[in-house]
Amino acid sequence: MRYQLHFAIPEEKDAPIDAEVEITFRLAETGLPIYLDFTQPTAYLGEMEINGKAVQPDHREEHIVLAASDLVAEFNTVKIKFRAGDGSLNRQEEFLYSLLVPDRASAVFPCFDQPDLKAYYDLSLTVPEGWKAIANGFTKETEQAADGGIFFRFATTDRIPTYLFTFVAGKFERIERTIDGRTLEMFHREPDSAKVAANVDALFEEHARALAWLEEYTGIEFPYQKFGFVLIPSFQYGGMEHPGAIHYRARSLFLDESATINNRLSRTRLIAHETAHMWFGNLVTMEWFDDVWMKEVFANFMAGKIAREIYPEVNHDLNFVLAHHPASYSVDRTLGANPVRQQLDNLKLAGTMYGAIIYNKSPIVVRQLEYMMGEEPFRQGVQDYLELYSHENASWPDLIDILDGIAPELGLKSWSEVWVNEPGRPIHSLEEGTLSQADPYDRGRVWPLVFEVGLGAEPYIYSLQDPSLSWEGPEQGWNSTGLGYGVFPVANSTLQDLPEVESALQRGAILINLYENMLEGRTVRPIMLLELALRMAGTETNPQVLSRAMGYLQNTYWSFLTEKQRTEYADKVSASLWSALQAQPSQDLKKPIYSAYASVAQPAKALVNLYRLWNEEVLVPGLTLSVNDRSSLALSLMIKQPEWYQELVAAQAEKISNPDRRKRFEFVAVAAHPEKEVRDSLFATFGFAENRGVEPWILGALNLLHHPYRQQASFDYLERSLLWLEDIQVTGDIFFPKRWLDASFGSYSSPEAVELVESFLAERSDYNANLKGKILQAYDQARRAAEIQKAEAPQ
Ligand SMILES: [Zn+2]
Repeated sequence: MRYQLHFAIPEEKDAPIDAEVEITFRLAETGLPIYLDFTQPTAYLGEMEINGKAVQPDHREEHIVLAASDLVAEFNTVKIKFRAGDGSLNRQEEFLYSLLVPDRASAVFPCFDQPDLKAYYDLSLTVPEGWKAIANGFTKETEQAADGGIFFRFATTDRIPTYLFTFVAGKFERIERTIDGRTLEMFHREPDSAKVAANVDALFEEHARALAWLEEYTGIEFPYQKFGFVLIPSFQYGGMEHPGAIHYRARSLFLDESATINNRLSRTRLIAHETAHMWFGNLVTMEWFDDVWMKEVFANFMAGKIAREIYPEVNHDLNFVLAHHPASYSVDRTLGANPVRQQLDNLKLAGTMYGAIIYNKSPIVVRQLEYMMGEEPFRQGVQDYLELYSHENASWPDLIDILDGIAPELGLKSWSEVWVNEPGRPIHSLEEGTLSQADPYDRGRVWPLVFEVGLGAEPYIYSLQDPSLSWEGPEQGWNSTGLGYGVFPVANSTLQDLPEVESALQRGAILINLYENMLEGRTVRPIMLLELALRMAGTETNPQVLSRAMGYLQNTYWSFLTEKQRTEYADKVSASLWSALQAQPSQDLKKPIYSAYASVAQPAKALVNLYRLWNEEVLVPGLTLSVNDRSSLALSLMIKQPEWYQELVAAQAEKISNPDRRKRFEFVAVAAHPEKEVRDSLFATFGFAENRGVEPWILGALNLLHHPYRQQASFDYLERSLLWLEDIQVTGDIFFPKRWLDASFGSYSSPEAVELVESFLAERSDYNANLKGKILQAYDQARRAAEIQKAEAPQ
């Protein structure tokens, strides 16, 4: 299949874009009509020809119907003049760029908009004087256009799906470098030449390095005709992997002087991720968006390997566990958990598939797979897969077939069934010398699993294939390297010993397991976890582990302690955190403690301390608070001390010099207003899509409206939050529905809140299954907290 496309791009960003397409495609059999996708109004379509014969476009329900009688066996040609839809062309004053993932190509031009219908593209553009143009293929010709502007013709692309087709045009600077015989090109709009100079070498080198690494790993040379990347201001995502013209958010690649090692590491990972997509996703493409997770997980997996080589000084294993396990469990432990590989019947619902399971569980699953197979056999399988399906499409079962052929003894098909096609996680218990695995939802599932147990330099490795295993191994340090997945037993001594364990990776992984045990209502009581976190505040030396511990502390304090326990512990918690805040030696260690202190502070003395920190009367040596930190602090103080409201709002707004941030602060502060009527009217506005435009502001406001101090007053918002959800899914960004629910239900623990959700769902048996899943995910903590508090309450 081949598309010849021309777009005439005018200078003014609102003027229509005239365009033409000629599509050539082969039909094996005739007798049926064929449907082209085009989601713009019929009025956008002009003259049309099928195989040389002029026809009237038959456009209905977002399709152009090609009548069977006009089509022939073998090659057909359809020509259409049209006005391009420009919603996905991101038109701005001096530039535009197309972003067509997942199904937006048909919003721009008539096409067969599916990932498995790959094609060659011959693109030409006419652009205003002074503009440059970039596309998937080389620039073949540039000339003055007859009626003004510049004409660009690009070389025929490689064979690509519609979602990877792109062009960018506008006022850009082009820089070219040749590294190891390979020429790379970069386009950007950064006016600060010092900033460009400070970053440009690293950008080229890191791309070249990632390319060389991937060629070596995959055994396949870079599969496209050219390598180019474009830095776009305020690009929607970190990056998008169009072959020949990767798009990046400019801010993610041009770092400031103050960039930390973490910023540089993220940039390396992003560059490696997008580069890895050239093989994973682009060369071999998913058949359908139900396998969208595959390209993401492989791109991340490869990026992780590349970053490991570039930054040997970073604790990558610890990063992996802290980044993936808690986030994955937060969905996978719930009644609404979805599998890694989800059903997708309608591309319009593709947005609901994204979430913690794709981003956080899949990497854990693929790491298990590599571990079970061994690095080399796994790599061999990946190479065979890329080789076999080069420039074609393939699905997850195709890959599993290949891997199964390499390691038939592992039973990878049944392994994949439970890990990839099923949701959920296993729960392990140790009793009388037997380790047993249970399915928390009694569906009889068994998760084959490799995990490590033990503390110190060499934990023992276990491979669990059956739901029970006779146990003679250590009783301490379950899943101590985070290789495994699920809930593991806790030895009695662990809570006592954990702060002294030498390895930060082991402290982090074990801490996560303790928290999951508390949520499962076994062994670890909330007050035990709270006491442990308080000790760690004083002793923990790794900032990331400390941050995790302080997050758990806040959650435990507000959601899992009973009211009575919270009253008993309030003074002790505040006092211990305050002294740990003084004692810890660095900003990196003080900051997570400060955040926990600011959250849990209740006694008058603690609030006065915070007030003085906020107005800079008191300083904690070594702790620096940014304007953003002070804004958050002001917001939480105005809820805890409503009589300070007016002063805090006025004085903090004064301190914020960035006008966007000040607007955000003033908007969100209304949600902390002492008068219920004011808050009620703010919440009521959220029922209309036009008031939810700036989603981060809405989430900030919801967090305050549902603050633990305000939950009784805000309880009646919860039902409306659910009633509006379907509209939110249709009108909001892909991540917004889940975030909306989390911000609304996240900190409740009352049986009434649980009951409200359950009866809402019970009354709606035909409710959208994906959204129902999101609701069940979001109310899970409330459900568990209500049960745990009931168990903790005196009988
Ligand atoms: Zn990606």
